[in-house]
Amino acid sequence: MELVFATHNPNKVKEIQQLLPEHIHLISLHDLGCTQAIPETANTLQGNARLKADFVTKTYHRPCFADDTGLLVDSLKGAPGIFSARYAGPENNANANMDKLLLNLKNQKERSAYFKTVIALNINNETVYFEGEVHGKIITEKKGIKGFGYDPVFQPDGYDKTFAQLPLEIKNKISHRGKAFSKLIAYLNYVTV
Ligand code: IMP
Repeated sequence: MELVFATHNPNKVKEIQQLLPEHIHLISLHDLGCTQAIPETANTLQGNARLKADFVTKTYHRPCFADDTGLLVDSLKGAPGIFSARYAGPENNANANMDKLLLNLKNQKERSAYFKTVIALNINNETVYFEGEVHGKIITEKKGIKGFGYDPVFQPDGYDKTFAQLPLEIKNKISHRGKAFSKLIAYLNYVTV
């Protein structure tokens, strides 16, 4: 079966393909000839993941899954949340986003936060959701050079290092995305299409 992963990133597709049973062949938006950015206008992660998956299923009549991720900071009432990529402006600049976050948390002692990923899978005429979260805190300065996005300011619970300092294998094991994708992969390994 061909299954669309609604992403423009071929590396993400390769990574997940390796974890799937042989009868599931992942294809990307690029493979479909879809080059446009799919609108993400919902006000929840679940809503945005569903919008992306539904766009593909309705336009290309294919089974599809899409993911959406956000960083939710408790003392900022869940911000930046669905706006994580463009918190400091439309450029999606990770450094500017972290600077804005650190400024908004200046002198704030309550710094707990979590990443959340939601995956929406359209298969067999229904939508199934998979979620993953990792809880931790926002430290007061950037530390580490690995990873991307908010990794240098996020320290997961149980560790004294940020995601940008931890080896990728550890991050993948405990991360929001790692957990959500493990659930998706477990599901796809037993589902009959
Ligand atoms: P996306 O839905 O995967 O595109 O993620 C939205 C935004 O959340 C990204 O642009 C990053 O700013 C942030 N983000 C998502 N995953 C991570 C992560 O694993 N580490 C740090 N930041 C992340």
